[in-house]
Formats: sequence, C-alpha cells, structure tokens
Amino acid sequence: MSTPQPAPAWLAQLRAQHGAAAAPARTAPDAVNLPMIRRWCEAMGERNPLYLDEDFAQSTEYGGIVAPPAMLEVWTMGRFSGADAPTVGGLLGIAQVDAAGFTAVVATNLEQEYLRYLRPGDLVTQQVFLEEVSEEKRTALGAGHFLNYRYEFTDQDGAVVGRMRFRILKFRPAPQAEPAPVAAALKPAHPRPAITHDTAFFWEGLKEHRLLIRRCTRCQHLHHPPGPSCPQCQSSDWVAQQMSGRGIVYSYVIVHQPQLAAFGYPLPVALVELEEGIRLIANLPRVSPERVRIGMPVEVEFAEVAPGYVLYAFHERGGS
Ligand code: ZN
Repeated sequence: MSTPQPAPAWLAQLRAQHGAAAAPARTAPDAVNLPMIRRWCEAMGERNPLYLDEDFAQSTEYGGIVAPPAMLEVWTMGRFSGADAPTVGGLLGIAQVDAAGFTAVVATNLEQEYLRYLRPGDLVTQQVFLEEVSEEKRTALGAGHFLNYRYEFTDQDGAVVGRMRFRILKFRPAPQAEPAPVAAALKPAHPRPAITHDTAFFWEGLKEHRLLIRRCTRCQHLHHPPGPSCPQCQSSDWVAQQMSGRGIVYSYVIVHQPQLAAFGYPLPVALVELEEGIRLIANLPRVSPERVRIGMPVEVEFAEVAPGYVLYAFHERGGS
C-alpha cells in the first residue's frame, strides 16, 4: 500500500473520460413556482420577504418574488422513487469504482455558485460532468478514490444560471466483524453530554434510575429538553416529575453515517413519545434495526456506561 502502484486499467479508462457527461441532462419536472418556494422556505425556516411576499418583492429592485438561490438543485430533483429518481449510483464512474471493490460512499464536499436569481416560470435543466477521479488515497475511512462532479444549471434559453461541485469518496468498507473482546475494551469512551445548571437534575435522576422531566408549576406544561424557562409561559418555576418510563416509538432513523467509534452501527435512534405526552430522543440498544417500527411500545432502561455516568435507553415493551 505504501509503494506507488501503476494505475489499474479501469482507473486509466475512467480518467480518460474526465470532462464527459456523467448522466443524461435532466430538465426540471416543474418550472420555478411559488408553492415550492413557500414550502422550501417553511422547511428551512427562511423568512426573507423577497421570497415570500409579492408586495414587498415588487417594491425592491428585483420587481417580484425570486427563488432562494440555495434551491438551485431542488428544481431538477426527481421523485423520491421510481424511474426518474436520481441516484448517485447512476453517475459515470460509480459502477467502475464499485466493481474495483470501493463500494462504500460518503459525500465530502458540495459547493454551489449562483449566477442569477431564478424567478417563477424559469425552467431549469441540469447537466452533470465527471471532472476528476483521483488516484487511490488513504483516508481515515479506508483506501478509496475521490470523484468530483460538476453540475451546470441552465435556463430555458440555455444560459447558465448556477453551478455545483459535488465530491464524494468511494472507499473499501472495513470488513464487518463482531468486535473482539479486546477491541471492545479499546472502544473510545461514550461521548458525554454538556451538563448545565438547567439540565443537571435530569442526569442526577438517571443515576437513581428515574426519568425526570421538567414541569412548569405555573401552567403545568411538561418540557424537554430542559431550558431556563417554560417554552409555553416563560415561567422559571418548575418541578422535576418522574415519568412512567412507558411510551411508543413516535419516529426513528437508522444511522449509518457518520459513525462514532463508541457506538455500534447500523444504529437505531428513536423519537420516543412517553405516556405523559413528552417526546425524547433515545437509543434502542437491544432492538435490532430491522425490528424498529413506528408505534412500537417501549419502556425505559438505564445503563451505567462509565462509573457514575448513567444513560437511559429504551427496549421493546413486551418484547424479548
Ligand atoms: Zn409554563
């Protein structure tokens, strides 16, 4: 690995295609439009009236609503699934790098450049080009190749309105093996929370195997995570109320990346809704990722992950 090897044939072939189209051109399924702008701003918490308020926007030098520049790639995105769903796997270079054994992927860089504001009615077309496939590099994730793609976005007149550079690392995944006892012993310590004056009672409660949630004594609102005042009435008077510990999985994700060495992956992370109505983020260390489902009844458990450091987690209620 330390001596430079001549580039393998597949890599030389791929590098000969630098600058080639990496996928067919894609024209946006819908022209730039107000409903998508509104929903995007809502999701992003964007409140700039230039994107949302026609009267305001008309009073500016722009003369009307424009789309947020960061929506550049949104217009040409396909459906979530189905034949026109865009996938990184369909880009030129991915299959060749996969076939050489670099099957894992992580996105490393994304830069966008905006040349003009898009307005309702503009129709965007995207073209993507393979800019560069790197030599084999050693990275913290393993040996791999960086692939650089350049996206060009043009309007209905063929004028370039924006560009995007997207860089991914395709790497050889580490073999999946049960950690040996010695490796487990060498696992880095579990990351610690930042405990503040407002949150100390929660962590102290865990040491006594009690799940404590802050209840406002003025309006009785339960709130978590704890803050300096009640989010409902701003009162700073509160008591810690012990929860039953029973609830359901309200929602969840299965985390694959990024990986922290202290955890096992794939890692189910749930948003648990307690009987008392409060929701909290939780690990499900004894629930297999395939088994997690929305609505699954769960119950709290406590684990001392380091001396004097107790964490809560949930397991399936009525399950094994
Ligand atoms: Zn309150």
